[in-house]
Amino acid sequence: MPEPAALRVCALYPDLMNIYADRGNLLLLERRCNWRGIGFEVTAAGLGEPVDPGAHDLFYLGGGQDRDQLLCAQDLVETKREGLHAAAGAGKVILGVCGGYQLLGHSYAFGDQEVPGVGLVDLRTVRSETGPRLIGNVAIEVELPGTDRPRVLAGFENHGGRTHLGAGEQPLGRVLRGHGNTGESGFEGVIRDGVIGTYLHGPLLPKNAWFADWLIRRALLLDAPLDPLDDALEESAHRSARRAAGV
Ligand code: GLN
Repeated sequence: MPEPAALRVCALYPDLMNIYADRGNLLLLERRCNWRGIGFEVTAAGLGEPVDPGAHDLFYLGGGQDRDQLLCAQDLVETKREGLHAAAGAGKVILGVCGGYQLLGHSYAFGDQEVPGVGLVDLRTVRSETGPRLIGNVAIEVELPGTDRPRVLAGFENHGGRTHLGAGEQPLGRVLRGHGNTGESGFEGVIRDGVIGTYLHGPLLPKNAWFADWLIRRALLLDAPLDPLDDALEESAHRSARRAAGV
């Protein structure tokens, strides 16, 4: 079967929500598509710009400082909420990292402020005013739909927020090392169909190229596996990230 023409990505607030170079995740997607002859298009959706749910295969929202997150949260709810719900309903991939993950839920509370989220998944985040920030290398075990075995995602986390999943939500993975959603639950992230949230920076995808491929395949709704690539460098980055986490 011929490869699809292009992976069409919508980068939400690429300038404001780009902590820890989270945009590097998009560069990796671009390379892995191009190396296989799959095109790659990225469209930025900044403040005040609505999203067209049918125009993209994958929506990406990186992490941000509380200040920038507040700015984006307001805009997300006012101008993009409807489009993102339609996209999720159509089975598109929506990936949120750290601050972006928090905004996929209902709310992020810090100090005396409560930042609204888009409510794509049933979760709430509260920044601990007394506990420490949850910082460090992290490894989680995940079993994604369509994969035949559990795999490890390795990365780095740094968040003050504790994310509590609603009873019906499924975490992305089980914490092997690190803190994850609350530091206590033993779980990390969230997955509901194509909507995925995680605290893993790293950036996440360069350290876990297998996950990047899973996202590409899922976003393009491909039945057949993607062509293999020479992943010696990516696998070595993955091993170092795991070693750093002690897994
Ligand atoms: N502001 C959020 C928190 O500290 C997210 C930070 C981030 O994206 N690293 O919980």
